[in-house]
Amino acid sequence: MGTYINQNLLNNLFYILTSMFVYYFIYDHRKWWKTNSRHQQWFLIVCTAIPMLLCMKFPIYIADNCVHDLRQIPFLIGTLYGGWTVGSALLILLLAVRFLFYGFQPITVAVYITMLIIAAFASPFFRRMNRTNKLVTSVWLTFFLAVLVTIIAVVFFDFQVIDSYIVDFIFIPPFAMLFVVYIIETLKDAIIMRSKLVKVEKMEIVSQLAASISHEVRNPLTVVKGFLQLMKSQTIPKETQERYMHIALEEIDRAETIISDYLTFAKPTPKKEEPLLVEQELERVTHLLQPFARMNGVHLVEKCQPCSIIGNAEYFRQCFLNLLKNSIEATPRGGTVTISCSCKGEEVVVTIADTGIGMTVDQISRFGEPYFSTKEKGTGLGAMVAVKLIETMNGTWKIDSEIKKGTTITITFPSAKTRG
Ligand code: ADP
Ligand code: MG
Repeated sequence: MGTYINQNLLNNLFYILTSMFVYYFIYDHRKWWKTNSRHQQWFLIVCTAIPMLLCMKFPIYIADNCVHDLRQIPFLIGTLYGGWTVGSALLILLLAVRFLFYGFQPITVAVYITMLIIAAFASPFFRRMNRTNKLVTSVWLTFFLAVLVTIIAVVFFDFQVIDSYIVDFIFIPPFAMLFVVYIIETLKDAIIMRSKLVKVEKMEIVSQLAASISHEVRNPLTVVKGFLQLMKSQTIPKETQERYMHIALEEIDRAETIISDYLTFAKPTPKKEEPLLVEQELERVTHLLQPFARMNGVHLVEKCQPCSIIGNAEYFRQCFLNLLKNSIEATPRGGTVTISCSCKGEEVVVTIADTGIGMTVDQISRFGEPYFSTKEKGTGLGAMVAVKLIETMNGTWKIDSEIKKGTTITITFPSAKTRG
């Protein structure tokens, strides 16, 4: 038994799992890998080649004409997730290293070419599957391939099948594969969920703002309708008529701005990082929230110096929309919410101050925690999304609050000029 299941087997598993964690860790922290599939492929090759080579260097055991290790796991993972390109690169490396370390073996060539062909053909179907099917497929495929290549080895190369071979090459890999694919899928889901959350929260805000927007648009419409009805009666003098017309047109303009502000926010923009004019972006957000603030009887004031930072415009707006909306919601009628920004040396400081209900120490410490809300119909996602977006833009945040006095949130970003 000692020869089948030993420390080396665990080490092999450790190499594979660690590199998968590294893969997703870096994938999660490097925005450009998500859009550039070529980089992603290279990265997958590196992250499957390293554990594969380590497995080969430190095998489970070495028999007369075969070396046992879990190299087929990273090999199959790379091929299933990366297709022909990644699979072929791994095959070349695998064969080269096998011959360097342990000498030439025709069986090895036949075995891994068979695996590559079948796994690469399965790859496009595999990648479209859901999690459960991926798990089932990867386990069966690993088992099937192990049996198939054993048959090939026995029939064509007179290979001697021994007990430890059956355990290490045929029975353990499918289990190891189950484990590895499960972890990969879980990590991937977590990353995808997080990016979807930003969208979910945006839809939530868009629908919550709809009420105040439609209210705000209905007002000018009512005014215009009133004036038109007045003008129908021909008795009013020409100047009055013109004045009415002027007011009506102004009201229509206002409605138009509100709607177009709202639509530009709802529409997605490209996910690129660019220099942002902070005062301009904040002005847009303030505009968009004016109807909401008026509906809540809150004065929304914006005082900004021209500053610029690097970031994504859509994320930036979403972030401040969430924060400002919270401040407006926390402020009773007649209160004020002030947003200001200033450049302090290499930093851009944005503060959002409200004269609202304030937060307890416990609430401050839980700020940004998912699903934490003190509101009856709150989602508890707004602050979390805002905090995530601030971090994405290399910013930091801090809250000062006093119960019944108000809350001030200070957000600091590196200024665009310092990034040269
Ligand atoms: P939601 O707004 O749906 O409740 P958020 O994640 O946007 O969820 O906010 C979480 C919680 O943080 C709020 O429920 C509220 O208790 C608190 N909070 C956020 N901003 C403020 C603020 N400016 N003043 C007081 N409390 C706030
Ligand atoms: Mg909120």
